[in-house]
Amino acid sequence: MLLLLAVIQYRWSAELANNDAKLTKTRLGVGAQTLADEFDHRVADLYLYAQTKGADSIENGAALTNPPRLFGELYHVSRKNDEYVLRRVERDGSVHDIDARDQAGQALARRYGASATGNCWSHLWPDIPAIVAPVLFKPTGGAPREPVHCLVATLDSTDLHNLLSELIQQNFGTDSSGRYSFAVVESGESRRRAMPLIYGIRSSHADLGQAFFGFRRDNYINERMREQLSPKHPFLGWMGSRSAGPPPTGLWELQVSHGAGSIESAVAGWRERTVLINILLEGLLLVTIAVVIVSALRMRRLGEEKVQFAAGVSHELRTPISAIGLLSRNMATGLVVRPEAVKNYGALIYEQTQRLSQMVEQTLEFAGIDSAQMTPTLKKVSVQRLIEQVIERNRDNLTQKGFNVNVEIAPNLPTIMADSQWLARAVENLVNNAEKYNSDKRWIGVSASYSGESAEVRITVEDRGIGIDTADFDRIFEPFSRGRRAVDAQIPGSGIGLALVRRTVEAHRGSITFVSEPNQGSSFTLHLPASPATLSP
Ligand code: ADP
Repeated sequence: MLLLLAVIQYRWSAELANNDAKLTKTRLGVGAQTLADEFDHRVADLYLYAQTKGADSIENGAALTNPPRLFGELYHVSRKNDEYVLRRVERDGSVHDIDARDQAGQALARRYGASATGNCWSHLWPDIPAIVAPVLFKPTGGAPREPVHCLVATLDSTDLHNLLSELIQQNFGTDSSGRYSFAVVESGESRRRAMPLIYGIRSSHADLGQAFFGFRRDNYINERMREQLSPKHPFLGWMGSRSAGPPPTGLWELQVSHGAGSIESAVAGWRERTVLINILLEGLLLVTIAVVIVSALRMRRLGEEKVQFAAGVSHELRTPISAIGLLSRNMATGLVVRPEAVKNYGALIYEQTQRLSQMVEQTLEFAGIDSAQMTPTLKKVSVQRLIEQVIERNRDNLTQKGFNVNVEIAPNLPTIMADSQWLARAVENLVNNAEKYNSDKRWIGVSASYSGESAEVRITVEDRGIGIDTADFDRIFEPFSRGRRAVDAQIPGSGIGLALVRRTVEAHRGSITFVSEPNQGSSFTLHLPASPATLSP
């Protein structure tokens, strides 16, 4: 299901990515077109200024007031005997020859001197950069003459730079410079010459190229121009005679490239990231589902174990209770009168009471440890004394049942930090199991030793009894779980003993290990860290 979802998502993301790339390109295209229009209008303003104020200055020596944005320097070109004469028009209206320091003037002089390409028909020169406006003298009658004078207005480089960056910000957004790089280069025909960089940073691949800085007729004959020029102004007549035709492509090209290399690779990167995040999220979902299933299964198993436990405990409790009930009723109704029989009955009742109280004790203790409500009170404990106490407590019972108990305690055992009551109960549990699961060999070994290597005291309780099936090895420490040999042999028990022992040693930062073989016997060892103070010589 999740796999299917991932595949669908992958396909969708491809479609989304393609649409996104298309949309981004369209948006960039619209921005670039608007930039081109706005820039070309500014150029037209400059052209108009040269046509009106510039021509006025040449004719009447008027000052160049209120120049429009982009206006740099103004030059006057006249033709005499097939030769061009170039002069610079100052802001105050005076006209001067070009000197060697005038870079734009020198460049223009070279252009006019070199060939006839520098006539007044070109309108725009991308390399200087400049606009070229013919000076049309007022008609003295008849049709307007072809211009023999022109005005060349150069574009101010600071103005040009500022205008381009303003237009980029306006049309592509203020945060676009982080994502995209913009460059303005010479385009089309003129590109073959040198392709100088006019603005920005050149990039090896452009996502979009927009031509601008073109002479568009409608930009020059517009309402504004009609307002400023008298209807009879020769410029209008001259312009009107120019063929409308399709607008020529611009001389410059705005190149937009995405920071990631290209829009496609940026979108592909976005897609990869989205798919990866989705896969991670789906993986997380899968893990969560797995965790929920595992914990549900665990809870079910725990529930089943608790039911088993309740059934086991009830059954185990019922046996001594009904035995006590039966024995005491017989005594109470006077069925048992002989002193010998009364004594036997008393002993039986006592034994059943002991069994009952041990079970209740174990159950309560387990519930206490399992709910982590109780923590052991650690004190220095002598292992030798602890084992001796346990054996002493059980000696009568074991001797009565004919057990041979072999105790071996290594000399100079270090003390351990332990809760002596808890630990004694754990050892006693092991001894009781050794007794319970015995065979006719009736032998129990209890030993204690010290391992310097692991700095631990080991307490081992061994028997030569029925042993444990290998299949049960993993389960015997689980609460409420009983081995099949114990169940088959109908040996009473609740399955809490070993769980209790394990939790006790773990609460002492120790562990429990065992070896067992069916019909050969079992050996359980508690590993407890020796208390540090006793380790130093
Ligand atoms: P219980 O003895 O009440 O069943 P325990 O937790 O003490 O519960 O033991 C769990 C199981 O481990 C027992 O049911 C039995 O199968 C097995 N077991 C424990 N100790 C011994 C032993 N000394 N010999 C054989 N089997 C044992």
